[in-house]
Amino acid sequence: MMIVMKAEATEEQIEAVVRRVEDVGCSAHVSSGEVLTVIGAIGDRDRVQSLGLEGAPGVDHLVPILKPYKLASSQFKKGERTVLEIGGREVGNEHFALIAGPCTVESRDQTLEVARCVAENGAAMLRGGAYKPRTSPYSFQGLGQEGLRLLQEAKQETGLPIVTEVMDVRDIDDVLEVADVVQVGARNMQNYSLLSELGRTGRPVLLKRGLSATLDELLLASEYVLKEGNEAVMLCERGIRTHETAYRFTLDLMAIPVLRELTHLPVIVDPSHAAGRRDWVQPMSLAAAAAGADGVIVEVHNEPDEAICDGPQAIPTGRFAEYAEQVRRIAAVAGKDLSRV
Ligand code: PEP
Ligand code: MN
Repeated sequence: MMIVMKAEATEEQIEAVVRRVEDVGCSAHVSSGEVLTVIGAIGDRDRVQSLGLEGAPGVDHLVPILKPYKLASSQFKKGERTVLEIGGREVGNEHFALIAGPCTVESRDQTLEVARCVAENGAAMLRGGAYKPRTSPYSFQGLGQEGLRLLQEAKQETGLPIVTEVMDVRDIDDVLEVADVVQVGARNMQNYSLLSELGRTGRPVLLKRGLSATLDELLLASEYVLKEGNEAVMLCERGIRTHETAYRFTLDLMAIPVLRELTHLPVIVDPSHAAGRRDWVQPMSLAAAAAGADGVIVEVHNEPDEAICDGPQAIPTGRFAEYAEQVRRIAAVAGKDLSRV
């Protein structure tokens, strides 16, 4: 239930409503817009209704949230889009974030070389995995803590905020030492205990869509983070499983306008894992930008032929400047600026 407060409602009146909602065992999420404050009462609808809040001091009216996800729904923000601020870069609404870097952190030279290249060419953030969710348990699993240390060095040198994945709740503290954005991989989209735990940390989360997840399932997964009080969630379309086998995954570009209608959260697109081949990554990045994505997350490597994982889909550092320029141009056509400091 959404409790819409009057424009002139006082702090005390807002607090009084929050207390009454919490007293019946529901949680209250206060969202202060430019004019109005809205309190999302999440929990049993009948109990909130039984409070008789219509007519309470400062309350204007009550509106039921019709979607199964509440805090993620566009309705909750009354159509306003969320803009996240991450290390001085803005993401969302008119701010487009180019997030770039290697699939996995392999070595000091590789990480720093890629980081310098993407920093020089307009990337807003550096991506790189230290913990890798590999399909085979016999594949390289990431450098772990050593990988996190290398990301820290890259951050210190370039100033780029870091996006890196956490796979296990036991690694959250270590990952938080370096991550400005914590990535939850496609295979973990429905790891609800991990999502709730990340919600409690308050650190921005990039939540990837599961291989076979519907948009409703993705939005409900994001709700696990939001309901713990962490409002900093970006959703990521990275390709889904369909009958098509000519490429790695089907990049669901429809998800961009549909999610932008359903939710206020920023929508990021990962063309690399969908395409699986670098010459398909650029056209799909441009298509994502044209369709209104709030950013792309793309894999870049200094020596793609030698990469430990996902080399065929990595943009070589030598071609990244041209790639970034094209993405910037199309994002501008869609009314967005490349977010950078
Ligand atoms: C990744 O970003 O490196 C990755 C493994 O992505 P996904 O979880 O989308 O497969
Ligand atoms: Mn990868």
